[in-house]
Amino acid sequence: LEYHQGYFNGTRTELCARVQQSVSPKRYQHILGVEEAAVQLAQRNDVEVEKASIAALVHDYAKERSPEEFKSVIQHKKLNSDLLNWNNFIWHGVVGAEIIAAELEINDIEILNAVRRHTVGAVTMTQLDKVIYVADFIEKGRLFPDVAFARTIAFNDLDQAVSFETKHTLQYLLAANKIIYPAAIATYNRWVTE
Ligand code: GDP
Ligand code: FE
Ligand code: FE
Ligand code: FE
Repeated sequence: LEYHQGYFNGTRTELCARVQQSVSPKRYQHILGVEEAAVQLAQRNDVEVEKASIAALVHDYAKERSPEEFKSVIQHKKLNSDLLNWNNFIWHGVVGAEIIAAELEINDIEILNAVRRHTVGAVTMTQLDKVIYVADFIEKGRLFPDVAFARTIAFNDLDQAVSFETKHTLQYLLAANKIIYPAAIATYNRWVTE
């Protein structure tokens, strides 16, 4: 896969090297799995493959940064101060996008928004957002019981896959007594189907 559009100033191999330096080996393998799934989903859904590849490769770039770094970025970039009440799970996408822009000089708004939306989705999602959100859930390293079913849906109907994933994630969080990020509820209400 060769990059031609200038969203990243370098080759795919160079971007992979930057990502590999930013995360653990295990997370890097997850990221490569997300890229593979995202490229396949992009091809089936008329999404630009280069954007899908880059968004997938960077989606968890900031996942292993410290709480102090995220809090500093929230303050310096004047992001919504409510973010300070949350944690790495929420920060690594929304705040991570700022770190990606600064360190990797990726400034394409669609790529950055797909990173921002990859954990809890959004009420309004672009096709690229959906591709990254779903690819993160179904990549070949994921092992939860319903993953085979999720993959089948994903390659048949991207919107239905967003719906399934949103419902599945919320059910998991409720069963585990986790606090729910309000935007995750908004996503659920938009994407749940009766
Ligand atoms: P990953 O970065 O590839 O592990 O995947 P995600 O970015 O999709 O999710 C990161 C973590 O955030 C997962 O463990 C989710 O269960 C968790 N998560 C997603 N939404 C919420 C939420 O509303 N509340 C809480 N507490 N955790 C959430
Ligand atoms: Fe993530
Ligand atoms: Fe996810
Ligand atoms: Fe991920």
